[in-house]
Amino acid sequence: MQRLLLATTNPGKARELRALLAPLPLELLTPANLRLHLAVQETGQDYLANARLKALAFARASGLWSLADDTGLEVEALSGAPGLRSARLAGPGASDADRRRELLRRLQGRPRPWKALFRAVVVLASPQGETTWAEGVCAGEILPAPRGQHGFGYDPLFLVEGTGRTMAELSLEEKNRLSHRARAVQALWPALQRLAQEAGQPPRGAASPANND
Ligand code: IMP
Repeated sequence: MQRLLLATTNPGKARELRALLAPLPLELLTPANLRLHLAVQETGQDYLANARLKALAFARASGLWSLADDTGLEVEALSGAPGLRSARLAGPGASDADRRRELLRRLQGRPRPWKALFRAVVVLASPQGETTWAEGVCAGEILPAPRGQHGFGYDPLFLVEGTGRTMAELSLEEKNRLSHRARAVQALWPALQRLAQEAGQPPRGAASPANND
C-alpha cells in the first residue's frame, strides 16, 4: 500500500486528515510514527508557500509522499488579519486559548457581526520535490465568547455560516463535511486517488485549483 506522511505536528489537523483520507487505500503516517523531528519555519509570503515548505521538508526528510496544510483565519473587521499570522497572533509559546483571547481583544469595540473565513491550502509533495495543491474556504463569523468542546485552535469562536453552531460544537464527522480543510482535501482528491492507485507513481495532472511543478 502507498504510504503518505501527514506533514503536521498538530494532533487536531492529523485527526481530521486521517478521517478525511480514510476512504483511500493509503497507509497514513505521522512524523511521530517515524520519530522525525523537523521544525519548519513558516517564512513564506502566503499559505501556499508555507504549506509547500512544510510538505517538501517532510517529503525530503522521510523519502515519502507528504501532505501538508497551512490554514489562516481571516476576519473582515481586522482587514483579513490574523491571516497568515494566525499561529503567531499571541506571540511565541502562546496556547490556543491565548490566541482566542487576543483575537477577541482586537475585535473589542468593533461592530458585529464579525464576519470571517477559514482558508486552508493543502500541498501534496513527492519525495522528488513535485507538488500539487488545492485550497478550501469556510465562511462564518467570530463570536464574542467560546462555545463547544470539539476541534482545536479558533474553532470555539467560529460560528459556521448556515449551521447556528461553532466549529467546536460540530463532531469530527460534521466538521469534516464542511470545513476549509475538508474542502481543500476534496479539491485535491483526484491527485490523492491517483497516488493511492498508482502506488509509487507520481500523480499526473492537476486538481482544481492546483498545479504541478
Ligand atoms: P497553521 O496552519 O498550523 O499555521 O495554523 C494557524 C493557526 O490556525 C493555528 O493557531 C491553528 O491552531 C489555527 N487553526 C488551523 N486550523 C484550524 C482549524 O481547522 N480550526 C481552528 N483553528 C485552526
